[in-house]
Amino acid sequence: MIKIHDLYFKPFLSSQEIAAAIDNLAYQINRDLADKKPIFLGILNGSYMVLADLTRKFDHECEVSFLRAKSYEGTSSTGVVKLGDQLDIALSGRTVVIVEDIVDSGLTVVTLSRKLQQYQPKDIKIATLFFKPDVYSQDLKIDYVGQNIENKFVVGYGMDYNNLGRNLPELYVQTERMKNIVLFGPPGAGKGTQATRLKDKYGLVHISTGDVFRYNIKNGTELGTLAKSFMDKGNLVPDEVTIKMLKAEVEKTPDAQGFIFDGFPRTDAQAKALDELLASKNTDIAGMVALEVDDEVLVERLLERGKGSGRADDANEGVIRDRISVYYKQTAPLKDYYAAQNKYYGVDGVGEMDAITDRLSVEFDKL
Ligand code: AMP
Repeated sequence: MIKIHDLYFKPFLSSQEIAAAIDNLAYQINRDLADKKPIFLGILNGSYMVLADLTRKFDHECEVSFLRAKSYEGTSSTGVVKLGDQLDIALSGRTVVIVEDIVDSGLTVVTLSRKLQQYQPKDIKIATLFFKPDVYSQDLKIDYVGQNIENKFVVGYGMDYNNLGRNLPELYVQTERMKNIVLFGPPGAGKGTQATRLKDKYGLVHISTGDVFRYNIKNGTELGTLAKSFMDKGNLVPDEVTIKMLKAEVEKTPDAQGFIFDGFPRTDAQAKALDELLASKNTDIAGMVALEVDDEVLVERLLERGKGSGRADDANEGVIRDRISVYYKQTAPLKDYYAAQNKYYGVDGVGEMDAITDRLSVEFDKL
């Protein structure tokens, strides 16, 4: 995800995909206009990259010129097309190809093609790299389209958001700011159960480091064997191993709208590593939402869970108490880390499951 001014954008089309759209456009124009010696008229500013790449792929004689037009402020159309400089090329009797980066409502191309008629060209063709069929509202035919795209605001490859982003070689699409939440609480607080409910409700990706370790143990991986030696005793898996694994989990869903981190971070070093990782993606932790539950309730719950779950670390009261003590020593202080940033939200974790989901939702809604 990238940030331009106040908005967030995520990758939409790679350079290769854009090149394929250019090829498609060039193929159609080569096929139709080989012997027409067309004038390619780039509409500035947005179409400068398209024009450069397209004309390089046109295999016949042609001429190139530019016209300036502006119909956008920020992310929305103004509804008025402002045309710039005079033309510096005679269009009379010529085949003119208006080259656009993107056509959405079609206002600019319609206004332009009407205006250009006064120069009495033989023919006016419209070529656009990207076309939004859902919002095009004109009768004018778009002759050549590189690729249809959905109606979202895009930047990159010549296209801008308030003048920035034109130089990006890929295309990006506007998206919401990511919502990353640390679901916090001692072992047995109900983080896993609640995260499963909340992830669907909020469209977030749930990462439970405990679940990932158990998955690795089940599959007999090297990581699983290593983790098991710590987990069975109720100790934490070393930071270096856990942080590396967490990063790999985050990278698995580059398009995520946000994450619920369950069981991570558990140490100061993990919290800092998480901040760094998210900062590298232009995002951050929106808040730590903590389930607050008394120790005796925790022990009772975990022993009960151990009967059904088959988790070795839930079966033994000694190990359970060790985990709770590790929690107070190493993990609970993270409350202060987030509280210092005004990001701590405590929730009563005792009661009916639905009621607890509702309490958590109140906090999630605020973030
Ligand atoms: P959980 O399922 O979150 O209760 O985690 C079970 C066990 O996995 C813990 O007792 C630790 O041994 C290990 N574990 C899970 N997450 C972490 C973490 N963030 N850091 C270190 N160890 C972890």
